[in-house]
Amino acid sequence: MKIALIAHDGKKADMVDFVLKRLLFFSSLKLELVATGTTGSMLKKAGVKTIATVNSGPLGGDAEIGAMVSRGEINGVIFFRDPLDKHPHDVDIAMLMRLCDVHNIPLATNYNSACAVVEYLSSQTK
Ligand code: PGA
Repeated sequence: MKIALIAHDGKKADMVDFVLKRLLFFSSLKLELVATGTTGSMLKKAGVKTIATVNSGPLGGDAEIGAMVSRGEINGVIFFRDPLDKHPHDVDIAMLMRLCDVHNIPLATNYNSACAVVEYLSSQTK
């Protein structure tokens, strides 16, 4: 199982908190993690060593995750969006969310929905 982690700048601290609280749980599920560039480097700095990265979001990272979704390589997307900020790559973000809907991939866009997605994914492994 593989989940994608993406956080806008205003939400990166929340993402680090979310992942650090679940590291043991993720490894018990053998969950693979992939993140957009800056989100991934923040997670690595926080001690999450086993995380793959793609480009930074504004440089195409969200589009790369979207391509992975379309190829069936991603089981869930956790995307902590910042609804109070502007993003130059809004079209890529919309594309990623659309592809999650096309392929029926669980997509969480805030902390509490991410908790629900992780619960759901863990129920799928039993
Ligand atoms: P980042 O990309 O992790 O490289 O900041 C996230 C985004 O803005 O989509």
